Amino acid sequence: MIVRESYGDVVRYHTWNRSARIAGLSVSAYRIRDVLIDCAFPQLRAEFAVLLRTEPVRGAIVTHAHEDHAGNVPLLQEMGIPVQLAPDTAAALAHPAPLRAYRRLTWGSPRPLGGPVTPFADPTLALAPAPGHSPDHHVVWDASTGTLFSADLFLGVKVRLSHAYESPRTTEQELRRWVAVAPARVFCAHRGLVPGAAKALHTKAEWLAEMIGRVADAVARGESDRAITRRLLGGEDRTGIVSFGEYANVNFARAVRAGR
Ligand SMILES: [Zn+2]
Repeated sequence: MIVRESYGDVVRYHTWNRSARIAGLSVSAYRIRDVLIDCAFPQLRAEFAVLLRTEPVRGAIVTHAHEDHAGNVPLLQEMGIPVQLAPDTAAALAHPAPLRAYRRLTWGSPRPLGGPVTPFADPTLALAPAPGHSPDHHVVWDASTGTLFSADLFLGVKVRLSHAYESPRTTEQELRRWVAVAPARVFCAHRGLVPGAAKALHTKAEWLAEMIGRVADAVARGESDRAITRRLLGGEDRTGIVSFGEYANVNFARAVRAGR
C-alpha cells in the first residue's frame, strides 16, 4: 500500500503492507525536486515499480541498508535509476545477511544487489553520516529549504528499542548537531513530518541524555542489564520478544554499559 501525501515541494510516499500494519509499522520514502529519498521494503516491489513509472525520478538517495529503506535498490538498478548511497550501504546490499522471521514477514527479504549502481548526486541534497542508528546510517540535508530528511535519527522522543550495534551517545550528539543547524522541517522515515522540527530533536536529545545518565548510574551500582531494562526502560515489549532480542530495550542498557 502506498499513500501519497504532499507537503508543498516534498511528497511523502507512506507505505505498509498487511503484516507491517499488524505489527503497527509503516515506513516512508520521500521525493523532493524529482529525487527519491529511500525506496521502501522488498515486498512492495511491484507497487513501487508502478509508482516510479507513473512519477519518474532523476535519481535516488538511500540513507542506510535496513530493508525498510533500501528494499528496492535492485529495482532502481533494473529501471536504470542512478542511486547515491554510502560504500558501506552498497557493500551490505551486495551481500544481504539472512533476516530473522519477524523482519522477513514484515518487510520481505531483499535480493542481493547485482553489481554496482549507477552513481547519483544532487548538489543541493547532502548525504550526511549519522551513525548512531547503524554504522552506515545517513540523513539527507537540503540547505536550500532548511529541510532534514532524518531517516531513523528521530523515530520519536522516548525510543528505547535498539539493535545490538546502536550507539545512543552518538545519536544524542547527532541530534544536538542538527538542533544547532536548526532545520525548518524534519521528515522522519517512520513518523512523517515531525511537529516542532528542531525543538522535537532537542527534546529527544535531552531525554536520551537523561536516560543514558540514569542507566550509567545503575550500571555503576552493579545492576544487571535485565534489571535496568525492567526498572528504567519499561521491560521488553512484543518487538523485543518476537525478534528474540535482536531489536529490544535491553540493547539500550548494553550499549550504555559498553560506553556507546
Ligand atoms: Zn533503520
